[in-house]
Amino acid sequence: MNTEKKKFLSIWFLLLGFCSGAAIVLALCLRAQLQRPDYIGRELTVQEEAQIISRNSPLIQYIALTANGDFPRAQKITKITIHHMAGDLSLEDLGESFSRADRKASANYAIDSAGRVALYVEEMNRAWTSSSRENDHQAVTVEVANDEMGGNWHVSDQAYQKLVELCVDICRRNGIRELVFTGDAQGSLTLHNMFSDETECPGPYLEGRMAELADQVNEGLRGGDYGVASGEP
Ligand SMILES: [Zn+2]
Repeated sequence: MNTEKKKFLSIWFLLLGFCSGAAIVLALCLRAQLQRPDYIGRELTVQEEAQIISRNSPLIQYIALTANGDFPRAQKITKITIHHMAGDLSLEDLGESFSRADRKASANYAIDSAGRVALYVEEMNRAWTSSSRENDHQAVTVEVANDEMGGNWHVSDQAYQKLVELCVDICRRNGIRELVFTGDAQGSLTLHNMFSDETECPGPYLEGRMAELADQVNEGLRGGDYGVASGEP
């Protein structure tokens, strides 16, 4: 084969390769878009909000659904993963940040310093929160606001109490009979820093209260003080 012919053929092969690659990427994008519910990323009607709350937590007070996630999650919910915001953000500001495609981040829920609860990714879908695909497909992830910047990354009592209440509710609705904190990724209560050396999330304050959180949630699941149904405000 002469050089001209070789050149001609390699250009065609390159073109063919490029087109097949583009077609695969397009197909994947289309598939992701088809799987993603059409109400994500736009203003919701009152009726849609009510439906969304009915299949997630009744504690939700704010909803800003983001496309940053996998729709639906690939595994059954068996874990809860705790994060901190590394800031005292409002639920609205965090929602705005999660709505940006270039941030490639989200969480199922967040709790602000006043103890209000937001939903960004429905529980049936996987949020991009914990630097671990495997964990996030199994976990409902929760971001908690800090009322201290740096140091111990303290969180308010209202935020902590709401976290207990939200965890009880998540466990109850998803059939998690007991929340277990083992201090590593094996337990059903996990932390962001178990999956990445690059973060101290959720910070020393929350981390120091995880065994207590598990106890309080389990107490709530047994019908004690922290259950939603028991009338905790
Ligand atoms: Zn985190």
